[in-house]
Amino acid sequence: MPRPEAELLEIVKSLKASVRELKTWGIRDFLKPPPKPVPASSPPQPLTTPEASTFVAGETRHLFPGLAPETAGRPAIPAFQSLGEIQEFLKDCSRCRLSQERNLLVFGVGNPRAEILLIGEAPGREEDLKGEPFVGRAGKLLDQILAAINLSRREVYIANIVKCRPPENREPWPDEVETCRPFLTAQILCINPRITVSLGAPATRTLLATKQPITQIRGKFLTYRLARPGQPDWKGIILPTYHPAFLLRNPSRKREVWEDVKALREELDNPGSKTGPLNV
Ligand code: SF4
Repeated sequence: MPRPEAELLEIVKSLKASVRELKTWGIRDFLKPPPKPVPASSPPQPLTTPEASTFVAGETRHLFPGLAPETAGRPAIPAFQSLGEIQEFLKDCSRCRLSQERNLLVFGVGNPRAEILLIGEAPGREEDLKGEPFVGRAGKLLDQILAAINLSRREVYIANIVKCRPPENREPWPDEVETCRPFLTAQILCINPRITVSLGAPATRTLLATKQPITQIRGKFLTYRLARPGQPDWKGIILPTYHPAFLLRNPSRKREVWEDVKALREELDNPGSKTGPLNV
């Protein structure tokens, strides 16, 4: 039978390891209670707002009335069988104004069969130069976040809602998002992820078609659907959290993301423990 002192030593060792982990995240106020605790096992909830609806691959639904998508008058977007096909199709894309100042189109990177799909907002300066998402400071932080839950960018898939860099790193405009949306939808359908992590408010708004602030819905496993012509809807789980670039500006919010990714790890280790049955 293990001696109580030995058990105590094990607990102290494990606590020290946790403290070291938190410090690498810049979290030093870990003795305080988290500002907004996430319920331990909240099943995925469909958003009930009127905006929470579906969008169709290859279709440009007018989420933002008044702004005509720049795909108007173009040939229909074909159905894609693979990420390679989508990437090839997008190669010289000039469907929206973001093509005008880009250096490289940033399609996405990672495992094409990933269980976890991370979706950010748009490429930044370094991504635009390298053609890969999340390679700047925010990308390094994202790598640390993934490493903290024993994941690497080779295991997940990382993409953005628009594939070209908005000038001055501004938020993509609604018509640009709408124009690029069919390709994001096609990516999601090809990857078929078990959990999509939306990084930041613009990605969350786009995927859930919601106006709810991210502060209200981050850390919750929600459900979303993608309509597929002639087939039943594709159903997925989405976990909104903050964008790493936001964390660089607001390090005190790292704790909330830490809670979110811990829940993600738990769900990966024990499928259904955080999400329950997919009920959308
Ligand atoms: S952002 Fe999307 S739609 Fe616009 S040019 Fe780039 S790939 Fe094409």
